[in-house]
Amino acid sequence: MTNIALIVAAGKGTRTGLDIPKQYIEIAGKTILRWTIEAFLQHPDIDAVQVVIAEDGRAQYAAATEGLSLLAPVIGGAERQESVWRGLEALLAHVPQYVVIHDAARPFVSGDLISRTLQALEAGAEAALPALSIADSLKSLEDGRIAGSLDRNRIVAAQTPQGFAFAPILAAHRAFAGEGLGDDTAVAERAGIEIVRIEGETGNIKITTPDDIATARQRIAGALTDVRTGFGFDVHAFTAGDGVWLGGIHIPHNAALKGHSDADVALHALTDALLGAIGAGDIGTYFPPSDTRWKGAPSDQFLTHAAGLIASRGGVIAHVDLTLICEAPRIGPHRAAMRERIAGLLGLPEDRVSIKGTTTEKLGFTGRQEGIAAQAVATVRLPE
Ligand code: MG
Repeated sequence: MTNIALIVAAGKGTRTGLDIPKQYIEIAGKTILRWTIEAFLQHPDIDAVQVVIAEDGRAQYAAATEGLSLLAPVIGGAERQESVWRGLEALLAHVPQYVVIHDAARPFVSGDLISRTLQALEAGAEAALPALSIADSLKSLEDGRIAGSLDRNRIVAAQTPQGFAFAPILAAHRAFAGEGLGDDTAVAERAGIEIVRIEGETGNIKITTPDDIATARQRIAGALTDVRTGFGFDVHAFTAGDGVWLGGIHIPHNAALKGHSDADVALHALTDALLGAIGAGDIGTYFPPSDTRWKGAPSDQFLTHAAGLIASRGGVIAHVDLTLICEAPRIGPHRAAMRERIAGLLGLPEDRVSIKGTTTEKLGFTGRQEGIAAQAVATVRLPE
């Protein structure tokens, strides 16, 4: 049995007021398309995900889906109906039993709604449509004037994912291609396929307007209420050399730092702070000094690995604050470059990255210029 999610992302919708198609707008560090795809990838009963994109959307798609395991994207047609048809034809090779077809602009689809759509199909339905009853009373219009009242008990608002037994929906798309039908249950209706209604979800909004974008941002930000703080500390000794790696940049100096990797004490402390915030061990857990792969390795990969673990938990980094403790080299002249580099590695705006330098007034090992110490604090926000 194979259940495949087909996500339709070929539209050019720009009613959001931004000049990029809405599925590529970023919310909390991820595009709307990626939020949507991840909802299906995370569902245990979805075996594969395929996205239909616009011909000129290849680069945006590649950037939005980096690192995700997906079927190759399919180029859509001029209209939604044709885009889905092309997607279904491409899925034929994977022999799906069921396909759930979903709008890229509905990132808040819940796992429960996906489950209920599949359950309706498994119970024997050839098509399943999530739809909401309408609370407002309904009126018909003629020339901008109210012409009559409609019975709201006879009307529901259709959502996606719309679920189908694969063979009949493909046959329906083939038979009624080019009719400009608005969604896939309209195609199924046209073919006489019986459609079972399941309860939709009020939260499963289709992002269309600037208000929807604002609502989506608030929902995602508001959901990350589990706030964690992590602390990191590291020391590396000086050795002979002509410069140090510090905060992801190379600084000329009359010594180097000794270590198994590039010995970037700042990125090591920062990596431990991020790992600490999510209770995920320390830098040695992932990059043990006993492993020759990390000999002389750039430490930026340690930091991005920790950031990736946070992202994979659905979290975001709220802020990092780094203190470098040494007499020399002086931190001030390099602070801006370090901040820019770390912000870039973490995908954060620079105002969420703080770098400070201090000395120990010539006391202790840092005062004797035997090495550099670094302390870091990271604040991370996770979903409950
Ligand atoms: Mg270290």
